[in-house]
Amino acid sequence: MEVTERPGRARKAAALARSKGLEVGFVPTLGALHRGHASLFRRARVECGLVVASVFLNPLQFDSPEDLAAYPRLPDQDRAVAEAAGCDVVLAPLERDVYPNGVPEITVDPGHLGGRLEGASRPGHFRGVLTVVAKLLAVVGPCRAYFGEKDAQQLELVRRMARDLDLPVQVVGCPTIREGDGLAVSSRNARLSAEERAAAPVLFEALSDAAVLSRRGERRGDVLRAEMARRVGAEPLARLDYAAVVDEATWEDVLEASGPSRALVAASFGSTRLIDNLALPGPWPPDVQNTGEPDGGG
Ligand code: AMP
Repeated sequence: MEVTERPGRARKAAALARSKGLEVGFVPTLGALHRGHASLFRRARVECGLVVASVFLNPLQFDSPEDLAAYPRLPDQDRAVAEAAGCDVVLAPLERDVYPNGVPEITVDPGHLGGRLEGASRPGHFRGVLTVVAKLLAVVGPCRAYFGEKDAQQLELVRRMARDLDLPVQVVGCPTIREGDGLAVSSRNARLSAEERAAAPVLFEALSDAAVLSRRGERRGDVLRAEMARRVGAEPLARLDYAAVVDEATWEDVLEASGPSRALVAASFGSTRLIDNLALPGPWPPDVQNTGEPDGGG
């Protein structure tokens, strides 16, 4: 495995692989690599002839300097995780090479969805994410790019960017890796105190509550949202930011769910803000017709 600061090295490795007819897999990360990232690397390893990861703590996507300063930087761990999961190239560029003129003048507008949910809580976040992803894709070139469902809104925005800007990339979504108690694995979990860590699974519990209601046939968005808010609100160490249910296709808030939907929560535990989400189970109307299951979801 090669670790390089130089974008030109990654560009050349990817071009060489494509010239041999190999598929290039690309996994962009902020570093502090863990099992969640490793699952993306492994998926890319299975599907591609060359696996490129990037490790770049992108200042453009942090709206708070404290949050950026507190983000873990673990280059030795990053190398070990990437190598064990089968990466070929790790591109860890310097900030001055990514943004030679400081904050770029031209950036990617994340559109309407980019200002909702995470975008409403973290102004400028998705503009920063999409801008750096577009720049990294410009380095790597045509590829399959892997993103976690853990950051479902980000995954959706990257898909929309690829579609709307005709980027030569196939965006691949990968399932969320969780701890045994349901907490989504995240670099931020290391910042939780023991008490906060014990409280944090409440996010997954709230999402699971919504999923149980959904499976029983509850379709009203406000009922599902209220249940999640109640569950998170009952945990004294959690400060709820939002509990949402959106239509998977439009990402608009669901009034009455009629097709694939996703529940999302964000909450702070002390100074650490965590997010999580879960696809809500059907049966949705077309499934009912297809499987012949009884109506009403009893
Ligand atoms: P980050 O370094 O936080 O920007 O994450 C890099 C990529 O890894 C993103 O596509 C994330 O969605 C994905 N990721 C982070 N945590 C997980 C997890 N627990 N399970 C699956 N993917 C994850």
